[in-house]
Amino acid sequence: MSNPTSTAKRRDEPHLAAPDLNPSFTKGVFLGEIREDIVFPFPVMSAEESESLRMILDAFRTFATEHVDSAKMDHDGKFPDEVRHGLHELGLMGLNIPEEYGGFGASAKVFNRVFGEIGGTDPALAVYFGAHESIGCKGITLFGTSEQKQTWLPKCASGEIIAAFCLTEPGSGSDAQAMASTATLSDDGTSYILDGRKIWISNAAYAGLFTVFAKVPVTINGKIKKRVTAFIVDAHSEGITLGQPEQKMGIKASDTRTVTFEKVRVPVANVLGEVGQGFKIALEILNSGRLGLAAGSSRGSRQMLARAAKYANEREQFGRSIGSFEMIQRKFAQAAAEIYAADSAVMLTSEMMDRGHIDYSLETAACKVFASELAVHAASEAMQIAGGIGYSKEFPYEQAMRDARINMIFEGTNEILRALIALSGLQQPGERLKALGSAFKNPLHSLGEISSYIAGRAKRAVKKPEFTKVHPSLSKEADRVATLIHNLALAVESAIMKHGKKIIERQFIQERMADAAIGIYMSTAVLSRTTWEIERAGSVDAAKAEMDCAQLFLADRFRLVRRSIRRISRNQDDRMRAVAERVLETGEPAPVGPTDRE
Ligand SMILES: Cc1cc2nc3c(=O)[nH]c(=O)nc-3n(C[C@H](O)[C@H](O)[C@H](O)COP(=O)(O)OP(=O)(O)OC[C@H]3O[C@@H](n4cnc5c(N)ncnc54)[C@H](O)[C@@H]3O)c2cc1C
Repeated sequence: MSNPTSTAKRRDEPHLAAPDLNPSFTKGVFLGEIREDIVFPFPVMSAEESESLRMILDAFRTFATEHVDSAKMDHDGKFPDEVRHGLHELGLMGLNIPEEYGGFGASAKVFNRVFGEIGGTDPALAVYFGAHESIGCKGITLFGTSEQKQTWLPKCASGEIIAAFCLTEPGSGSDAQAMASTATLSDDGTSYILDGRKIWISNAAYAGLFTVFAKVPVTINGKIKKRVTAFIVDAHSEGITLGQPEQKMGIKASDTRTVTFEKVRVPVANVLGEVGQGFKIALEILNSGRLGLAAGSSRGSRQMLARAAKYANEREQFGRSIGSFEMIQRKFAQAAAEIYAADSAVMLTSEMMDRGHIDYSLETAACKVFASELAVHAASEAMQIAGGIGYSKEFPYEQAMRDARINMIFEGTNEILRALIALSGLQQPGERLKALGSAFKNPLHSLGEISSYIAGRAKRAVKKPEFTKVHPSLSKEADRVATLIHNLALAVESAIMKHGKKIIERQFIQERMADAAIGIYMSTAVLSRTTWEIERAGSVDAAKAEMDCAQLFLADRFRLVRRSIRRISRNQDDRMRAVAERVLETGEPAPVGPTDRE
């Protein structure tokens, strides 16, 4: 599929989150600021983008209706060739590859919407698509030289070459820096010799190229240090062997294997970026890649709830449809409000990517955490609505539960992403307080600094930030979100003062800070989206469906976030630690009961 309308903005420079350089909405939240220009106005697609998107979705849906049998693929544990080739023929394997390299050059808004559609149709197929495009060859688009792009991207775009991303190892999962794979410059200086074992590699069996991360010994100040470096590796190189397909709980049709590299020669020209830049490259790839998982999770939730709604209308008990019972209605209402929030946040974050010069790393993490947990919950609720048949393999509910679960694990587990959000958010307030700490060491010389900090804190304590661009009909909700931002920043500051550097170890607290920041970002996305919906519809009444979801979501999230913030300082963490440590020491998950005592 070509891009006849040239929808996508041509970007001269690769679009990176570049967290060290660019402003971030969520980092601002940790400082008690509302950087409204990053989140308002809510993005809309251009007419050309909408037209292209419609065209792509129509083509994909027609193809999927005819060829994608999700239950059969789950049962067989593989995709029929016609399904993979069908995706290639539709041009989807090059959706976000720039046009000059044979791709479609889709904007992040279009790309993530299509990702969502594929994920909602079949999550395993979304893994095939995402492992190739979001992470497999994304590094070449972002960091490749023009020669590397010319060599690899056109073939990736057509599907002639499928890409895979090789980061995880047996001893290095969440802790990617601990990798053991090495790449050593050959004696003649023309190649690197790559050795190592990567596990859980999606698309391994189909791959024509691997983006591989390995440590290269470099001499720094006379000492040899090992630095993570990214390589483009021809998957047909000598010395590469594949393991058997992993037998997985869900996304069964996707191919996942171990890939072993034994003295594999990788030409020097295939170093991606610079030697030693590999970890940053991996993080940048994952920063953008995980938004696709959020889009797929949100669409998957929508699909399951749509199916459950049909069933709830048809199925009668006690002489009425089960959908008429309020306990069933509560499930639909909650899911609708949360899907509305997830969709809004995915769109808003996609726009950050398209705009450029914005650090979206915490927002993509927030979207992935929120939407992946939503999808697991939504699949479980849909199963519950379906009752007994929900548990049957003849119906799609149980597969949906199995398929949805992976999104909480890969491309950064949700724990690691919560830690990322909290620790990145803490950085700036931490630096501010560290500077203050040094000032106190020499107070006579630093009186000005100290008094301006104390005055600043006093001011911060009373001066709440505010939203100025939210529709007046949502002013009460906007004010509550602003209060949460204010309270989070104060709680963060107090926590840093109390725990100092040890805050790095205080994950009970980090988790609450992250949950608060995620809730605040989702709420902000809802405020931005609903403001736009009201303006688009012309009145609050005309946007009633959106307004109802917004108000449900915002009220609910306000309570949850307020609780998370309170528990940053008022908690039972010592007791929690004691209980957890007892479990880990004794292996007994809870005190034994009277029937188990001797
Ligand atoms: C189906 C599938 C496909 C995959 N595809 C790919 C792929 O294509 N390419 C690739 O490179 N990898 C891939 N992976 C690997 C995946 O990214 C890792 O499984 C994931 O990063 C977690 O690593 P791990 O399994 O080693 O778990 P671990 O890192 O051992 O984590 C185990 C648990 O401990 C928690 N934990 C770890 N460290 C911390 C910490 N500091 N604080 C709090 N909690 C912590 C984790 O959150 C998790 O709950 C895939 C995995 C699966 C299952």
